[in-house]
Amino acid sequence: MERTLAILKPDCVNKNLIGKVVDKIVDSGFKIVGIKMLRLSQESAKGFYVVHRDRPFYDDLVNFMTSGFCVPIALEKENAVADFRKLIGATDPVEAEEGTIRKLFASSKQENIVHGSDSAENALIEINHFFSRDELLG
Ligand code: ATP
Ligand code: MG
Repeated sequence: MERTLAILKPDCVNKNLIGKVVDKIVDSGFKIVGIKMLRLSQESAKGFYVVHRDRPFYDDLVNFMTSGFCVPIALEKENAVADFRKLIGATDPVEAEEGTIRKLFASSKQENIVHGSDSAENALIEINHFFSRDELLG
């Protein structure tokens, strides 16, 4: 079964939307295999987003992701990576499809509520960024 990593970002936590977003995820057929709430350090956030280090939004992104608490969630489902990205919608909520999590709840391209892994390979790397084996089901 495929896994993917979601992160409920600080805007999601601050808007008290954890429950609503988790409900949509579970209603869409994903099984939660790991979950926690934490505040990322600068070092950890920079490492997580290292692929974006040369992009103009990198510093802002790291500052945003370290500005408050996040909820990383390891998820399992057939076709988890693609199905989760469909559920969350486009990066920019203006471009996201109706009914997607970002369309419903996100306020901007940066403050877009939730992260989703972009490949099955990266999903495993990202899950390992947040969870040890004894923190994951199965
Ligand atoms: P994520 O990786 O969070 O699931 P994504 O894959 O849709 O989102 P990426 O291109 O990987 O988008 O960008 C990572 C994150 O960086 C985005 O979710 C968003 O928070 C932020 N971001 C991306 N592009 C911009 C931009 N042009 N301006 C501001 N923030 C941006
Ligand atoms: Mg991405």
